[in-house]
Amino acid sequence: MDNRFSAQPASGNMISSDTVGLKDAGLPPFSDKELASFRHKAEKPLYVLMVFINVALIVTAIICIILAFYDFGPFTGEAGDWVGERILGGKPGADTHIEVLAILIMLPIILMAVVYLYYAQYRANSIRITEKNFPEIYQVVEDYSKRLGLTRVPKIYLTQENGLLNAFSAFILRRQYIVLLTDLFEVAYLEHHDLESMKFIIAHEMSHIRLRHATFSYQMSILFANYIPILSSALSRAREYSCDRVAQHLVGVSGVEPMLALIVGKHLYKKVDVEDYVNHCRETRGFFVFILNLLSTHPIMPKRIQALLKGSGSGRLLF
Ligand SMILES: [Zn+2]
Repeated sequence: MDNRFSAQPASGNMISSDTVGLKDAGLPPFSDKELASFRHKAEKPLYVLMVFINVALIVTAIICIILAFYDFGPFTGEAGDWVGERILGGKPGADTHIEVLAILIMLPIILMAVVYLYYAQYRANSIRITEKNFPEIYQVVEDYSKRLGLTRVPKIYLTQENGLLNAFSAFILRRQYIVLLTDLFEVAYLEHHDLESMKFIIAHEMSHIRLRHATFSYQMSILFANYIPILSSALSRAREYSCDRVAQHLVGVSGVEPMLALIVGKHLYKKVDVEDYVNHCRETRGFFVFILNLLSTHPIMPKRIQALLKGSGSGRLLF
């Protein structure tokens, strides 16, 4: 799954820390009730629907395989051959069925291997943020872990990807980690020394961990349903809204500035007139904008920024 910070960019700090929440350290962890109130209202219903579809797809596949295995019902004769050749991927017969069953049993192991390879890639090509390497950021991650009630402080890796501005949370079997891309990370250290924006980005990614989006079990629970385009992107957008809201309450800023950095880049975002951009947001509508948003894993920036500026409630998922 993709828990990337953004598929697109965003705008300014119009919500004060007084409006959104208190500043970090020493505060008790968020209660479950608080976290539930930050979650987008459509996230849970969409997730439940996706899990239901996922289970239905798995059960259907198992039934098809069993029927084909015994040459039973619609899977006998020519129909059985068709299932064997087109769906089960080979000539019909006991060998094919056993191969398919073996692949299904092996699937979680294959997926796990991919997940660990992905993790190895970042471990091998990054700097890990520690007490000595970027200690300010390490401290932020420790503080937010306590505030979010995480049992483990997630490991954070810093790497560059050819100028991309992004960050994402990912997972291995029972642990999560976060990858920050250098070009975005630099907002905290170069030119603007904008630690607040970096804190928002980290808080957003840690929220994916706290809300259990970035876990192996979550991803397995919607693995096949994730291939249903409009539905899976709607759930993804709801997750992004949820994490933006948690991050606002964690950091105490609107989170608009890091979005602006994604839109215009790390050098110019401080020069953007937020009010003017908000007017532009209101004009960004129409059929194709609707379709674009419908297919996007992240809310289109005008919607995302308007939700951030609102400071409470759920962002607009569709219109
Ligand atoms: Zn995200």
